[in-house]
Amino acid sequence: MESKEAELLRCVWVNGPIIVGAGPSGLATAASLGQLGVPCVVLDRSDRIASLWHYRTYDRLKLHLPKQFCQLPFLPFPPHFPDYPSKHQFLSYVNSYASRFNIRPRFNQSVQSARFDPLCSLWRLRTLDLSSPDSKSTVEYISRWLIVASGENAEPLLPDIPGLEQFAGPVLHTSEYKSGEDFRGQRVLVVGCGNSGMEVSLDLCNQAAVPYMVVRNS
Ligand SMILES: Cc1cc2nc3c(=O)[nH]c(=O)nc-3n(C[C@H](O)[C@H](O)[C@H](O)COP(=O)(O)OP(=O)(O)OC[C@H]3O[C@@H](n4cnc5c(N)ncnc54)[C@H](O)[C@@H]3O)c2cc1C
Repeated sequence: MESKEAELLRCVWVNGPIIVGAGPSGLATAASLGQLGVPCVVLDRSDRIASLWHYRTYDRLKLHLPKQFCQLPFLPFPPHFPDYPSKHQFLSYVNSYASRFNIRPRFNQSVQSARFDPLCSLWRLRTLDLSSPDSKSTVEYISRWLIVASGENAEPLLPDIPGLEQFAGPVLHTSEYKSGEDFRGQRVLVVGCGNSGMEVSLDLCNQAAVPYMVVRNS
């Protein structure tokens, strides 16, 4: 190992599983382990709980499914919440959930690699501490167990569309879309008609933009 790297590498032994991700899945897993008296460490590269919902969803978002299908174990949504809670209600719920089960994730810890060391039957996770000014501080977390709860859509996927680079207007993924207000009076092509595509199109209509939708399937 390079001596400079050795200087910066700090090792942390975790007494219990390491959970990667402080979204709803990571929180539910941590709470379930806690109920059984099993300690764990939750790592997240973001600076807060449920970062997907906070940073990468549009303003008008409400749960797409009724609340009874989206609640986490041991704590129902508050009874006064509507059937389809808003994004802000959902965020307040997951934050109270973390407090209630005393889950304190380690934020700004971006997991770069996870390696199982067969010699000692241990997982070794290298993280980059994104809060450190030079972002070069590396920590190695070591544990017998690893639980990956890093999400199904952690990275936005923009299809490689030939000629796209010649399009002069803005191109964005729905994870960057906040409101149709920015598109007032403009024609907007929405690619895809899943939940997000449909809801964004409605939002564009409500904000006096003109959406066109293209769908691959018939
Ligand atoms: C517009 C929209 C509407 C939705 N509506 C619903 C709904 O109504 N009901 C429902 O149940 N689900 C819905 N979903 C699905 C959504 O995926 C889930 O609500 C939920 O966020 C999934 O939780 P998760 O913990 O599995 O993943 P995420 O919420 O994506 O959390 C993963 C976490 O892992 C962290 N992470 C990722 N990679 C690393 C790494 N290398 N190192 C450290 N940390 C990392 C991320 O920072 C993130 O905080 C919706 C999603 C979208 C986008």
